[in-house]
Amino acid sequence: MMISVLKFGGSSVASATNLSRVLDIVEKEQGRVVLISSAISGCTDAFLKGDDESIAAMETRHRDMVTRLFTGEERCQIQQRVDALFTALRNAPKAEQVTYGELLSTTILAAKLRTEGKNTAWLDSRELVVKDDEPLTYSKIKTAIDTTQADIYVAPGFICRDKNGKISTLGRGGSDYTAALYAAALQADKLQIWTDVPGIMTANPKEVSAARTIPRMSYAAALDMASHGAKVLYAPTVAPAMAAGIDIEIRNTFASEGKYTVIGAEKDPSRWIGVASDGGNIRLVGAQEMADQVSHDGADADRAFKALTEAGIAAKSISAQGGGLDIVVRPGVLDKALRALHRAFFQELPVKEINLFIAGDGAVARALIALIDQTAETVKERTGKVLRIVGRANSRKFGLDAGGHPQPDREGDYIDAILSQATQGALFVDVTNSETLYKRYIALLEAGIGIISSNRRSFAIPYADYAAIQAAARENGVPLRYETTVGAALPMLESITRGTNSCDEILSIEAVVSCTLNQILGDYRPGGESFASLVRKAQAAGLTEKDPRMDLSGKDALRKLLILAREAGAQLEEKDVRITPIVPLERFKGSLDDFYAALEESEPELARQENAAASQGFRRRFVAWLEKTPAGYQAGIGIRNVAPVHPAYHLRGTENAIIVRSAFHPYPLVIQGPGEGARDAASSILNDILR
Ligand code: ASP
Ligand code: MG
Repeated sequence: MMISVLKFGGSSVASATNLSRVLDIVEKEQGRVVLISSAISGCTDAFLKGDDESIAAMETRHRDMVTRLFTGEERCQIQQRVDALFTALRNAPKAEQVTYGELLSTTILAAKLRTEGKNTAWLDSRELVVKDDEPLTYSKIKTAIDTTQADIYVAPGFICRDKNGKISTLGRGGSDYTAALYAAALQADKLQIWTDVPGIMTANPKEVSAARTIPRMSYAAALDMASHGAKVLYAPTVAPAMAAGIDIEIRNTFASEGKYTVIGAEKDPSRWIGVASDGGNIRLVGAQEMADQVSHDGADADRAFKALTEAGIAAKSISAQGGGLDIVVRPGVLDKALRALHRAFFQELPVKEINLFIAGDGAVARALIALIDQTAETVKERTGKVLRIVGRANSRKFGLDAGGHPQPDREGDYIDAILSQATQGALFVDVTNSETLYKRYIALLEAGIGIISSNRRSFAIPYADYAAIQAAARENGVPLRYETTVGAALPMLESITRGTNSCDEILSIEAVVSCTLNQILGDYRPGGESFASLVRKAQAAGLTEKDPRMDLSGKDALRKLLILAREAGAQLEEKDVRITPIVPLERFKGSLDDFYAALEESEPELARQENAAASQGFRRRFVAWLEKTPAGYQAGIGIRNVAPVHPAYHLRGTENAIIVRSAFHPYPLVIQGPGEGARDAASSILNDILR
């Protein structure tokens, strides 16, 4: 015949109302049932204290329960038994007084079951449970059940005798253990611990409100939680149940149909189980099978360390131990630490997936794809965003794959293919050098697809076209970001927009944004390597546009200047910008070889200019500038001699800088730093994507 052992904790039996829930739960059981009960909550503490006042308060509570639970003749009888127990308690040796809590609660419980017509027997755990002798305990329990006819057995938890026959206890919280002993002795089909929380949770819900129930866990993980401060289960309970192969269910008396935990022989279903604490010691419990793995790469400890640091907590120590982590913090920050660890290990951020259609297959595209892959985990952790590349294209072919592995192997129109899908909320990433792709931007924006671009050619377009694209983004409420088009990863556009947005009138911008010319002008020493040869070197190093004349003619700087100026609110057109190229324009004609030859011929002239500047203590910088005048904005591009006080004087190598003067401030805003490189561009694009 089926036999179940159900243990009820102190709050489950603490009042007449609660006790009625217990009866409902027992009512549903089939076969024989053994009920183990704790003392009503607060009772053990009161009896340990042992003063007259505490005992009297408990007497009142028990009498009260009897009054509510029973009527007439029965009420009198039970009241007499409760009174007798209190008399015995007052006369008992101090050490035994604590054992009366369970005697009282089980006396009332058994009596109530009898009045409900149940065939109930009360078993005296003091005569059956022998401390530290499980075999003897098991045989005594078995004999008692075999020789006592009943459907429901009620037995006090916690109390026992020691090997010398002296009345004793199993330790605070020991009723759980009593239940496991009864279950193991009887080879029970079921062992349930009924408490006042929904099972074992990922953290103590009183400390971490986001804690949730662990539906299944191994004996080892439960033992780990229990022996490191999780009060929901008394640690010694696990061993007898495990030896007998009985699952332990931890259930909630106050939501009997709700969530609960099953502890059993199966493997832990996840890497991390929960977090428990004892004083300033925190135990992050890991899966049982991880306990046997010898090597730890430190990644788990790093993760915990990071979580704590981000919460402003300095851990005293973190060490990997038995599949989990032992963490010591100052007791004053314990709750905060528990919440931080719980957040990092048990709370998934709501994940937002962002689909990306990438156009372009150059160095920046490759760097971006690699970076997205490499940062996926960090990005997910920090932002809750998961980026999925669902489209890729080079100048001839494209591929789409909702699964995240597109191959550009299809002929046809990439943008049409994107538009034919329902892709609201996706982002189109333009990392091409196309001069015409911008013509498709509006269609994408109108379809609800945002645009992230590093392609300057898409914005250095006639102002009317530029404004139409901006308007389409605004009207459709979709992002249009292109920080990367000027100064790579430097936040140049953003700084200007922030000023413009707050009505700080921009008076002038000086942009030293040609990596090529910054490098060449910085290296150029008349009498040393010729200017032409430095240009060749820069070209070979991939520092120039495909045709270095783009840079030297100021064409590339012009694009950047247009973008900067428009960000500042100037409706600048190409024709408004006076460009003074580094050598006269007619030398740019013909083939690239012709150009290099012309540049060699210009060497004396270039050397003279350089020497003239140097003799006055100036450095030569290629500057794109914008200035507000009473007649509107003026703009130009060309060499400027800058004195040591000028921010651009100190630029090194390919560094970029912008110097922005505005109406509010006597001194300029200066942004200076690395201005080139595929990795920088990729990181800037990634930031635009995530913004
Ligand atoms: N009543 C005992 C205590 O409070 C045993 C138990 O509740 O499990 O420690
Ligand atoms: Mg307890």
